[in-house]
Amino acid sequence: MNENKYDIIIIGAGAQAISFLAGICSYIKKNDNHYNLKIGIIDKKENFGCGRVYNHDFPWILMNTPATDLSIDKNNRFEFYEWIKKTIDPSILLENNYDFVPRNVFGLYLKDKYIDFKNQLYNKGIILEDIIDYAKDISIDKNEKVDILLESKNNIKTNYVVFATGPSNSDDYYNLKICKNYIHNPLPANQKLINIPKDANVGIIGSNLTAIDVAVTLKHLGHTGNIFMASRNGKLPEVKGKYLKSYPPHNAQYLNFKKLSEHKKDSLSLKDLIRYIRKDLALHGYHWRNFFFEKNSKPESFEDFKCRVEEAQTSPTPFNIVLGIIPEIAKTWRLVSQDQIDLFMSNYYRQVHQKHGAIPLVNAEKILKLMETGQLLLKGNLTDVNFKNQQFNLNFKNQESLKCDFVINATGPKKTICQNVPKLPFTTLCASGNVNETHIGGIIIDINTGKILTKNGFYQNKLRAIGHNAEGSHPFINNFAWILETSFEVAESLFCEVINAKRTDGT
Ligand SMILES: Cc1cc2nc3c(=O)[nH]c(=O)nc-3n(C[C@H](O)[C@H](O)[C@H](O)COP(=O)(O)OP(=O)(O)OC[C@H]3O[C@@H](n4cnc5c(N)ncnc54)[C@H](O)[C@@H]3O)c2cc1C
Repeated sequence: MNENKYDIIIIGAGAQAISFLAGICSYIKKNDNHYNLKIGIIDKKENFGCGRVYNHDFPWILMNTPATDLSIDKNNRFEFYEWIKKTIDPSILLENNYDFVPRNVFGLYLKDKYIDFKNQLYNKGIILEDIIDYAKDISIDKNEKVDILLESKNNIKTNYVVFATGPSNSDDYYNLKICKNYIHNPLPANQKLINIPKDANVGIIGSNLTAIDVAVTLKHLGHTGNIFMASRNGKLPEVKGKYLKSYPPHNAQYLNFKKLSEHKKDSLSLKDLIRYIRKDLALHGYHWRNFFFEKNSKPESFEDFKCRVEEAQTSPTPFNIVLGIIPEIAKTWRLVSQDQIDLFMSNYYRQVHQKHGAIPLVNAEKILKLMETGQLLLKGNLTDVNFKNQQFNLNFKNQESLKCDFVINATGPKKTICQNVPKLPFTTLCASGNVNETHIGGIIIDINTGKILTKNGFYQNKLRAIGHNAEGSHPFINNFAWILETSFEVAESLFCEVINAKRTDGT
């Protein structure tokens, strides 16, 4: 195999990778150059364009983001919405809902865009080659070329690698993987959840976004047994209601944070962020601490959730405030020092994330119905799950225990890459110190270029990470809008570097 066969290899062909390609296409549109480049993109065949997250599934597995916020064209926020109207048979949309569409509809859009981007690149002399395989391991050779070992046992060489491998599987917190009737990854639901007997008692570990997908699926499949949704905090996600609207903040704006950072001539701290957020929340009558970190936080009762759903049906909700503030903070993370980002991830991320992750009203109403009939029981203070005498026991702080026949894991993705067993394809890169991550997990990168920080403290030019792979430096990157935003920057910076290096080489 030729050395330097590829200028860039992208590992993973999901939403992150497509966002990166969108960034390159946006850059090459700006001039008439003809580039002589070859980009390879590695993934399993079925995931090209849509990745795992937006692949085929039941129509009730919905996007949690309205279609008008999911365009990959940064200059036209309605592109995805218009694409749906033009392309998708309305009968595919659940309850004719054009706002919150099935997740695989977004996957179909991304697949379409992938073909479109491939053609745009080809017209400018850039070949984008599908490599249907899986990257097992990666190393950097003595000539500073990146060597990728594939599952097929082939090796490929490239000048640069972009990691777009998506969210990792979650941890097996309770060592249940060996137990029969334990489902560690419930998605795609149309493969993983169809064989559960209808009358089985099912325990769901977690009460956040994936837990909602699981419970909604059981409801649609006509499940009759009990559903126990159990987590540490026992809280359900925020609800995106009928009057969903972002309230732009008056104080917590990126420009204000930028001015503050320039004035301080230093990075920002979490206290600096709070200073402005506090003012905005006060304008809406909230104290920042109670808003994000409720004191004596109790598991959510049926009545509490009912109130929240009714509020979402009839009036604007406090989620509108979060919707306005979060994008400004997302932009601001680059001004915050890494140690403060680490502090946020370790101590506050979970509560803030709980306020940010929200489900469409249609799903909240289904959950409420399940709770109302008594079929779904939401429980907090989960301490342990074990398997004895062919049954699972969900154990709680108050010594209570619930028995179930099936347990479905719906805890979020894990963040660690190198710790314990390194995630593929990072084994050698972790062992050689080419990847540095925060102690709770998440690769540390330079946010503008995606360059990965090494253990020696320099940014590795050859290795770039975007999206979920960059969580150590960007706590809110697990959302499509931010994956898109940061991928554009990384794409432009890497692309310029590649063409400059080519010019210098005279190739
Ligand atoms: C269940 C779920 C629902 C979400 N819903 C929303 C939402 O509604 N709105 C929103 O804004 N965000 C949402 N997100 C967050 C975010 O948008 C997505 O996580 C993200 O965009 C998914 O795309 P991806 O490319 O990061 O990941 P994936 O879809 O996982 O794609 C990564 C690809 O990399 C491939 N890959 C991994 N390792 C290798 C390897 N070693 N070699 C080759 N290929 C490899 C995988 O096969 C996969 O196809 C959701 C996330 C999840 C997990």
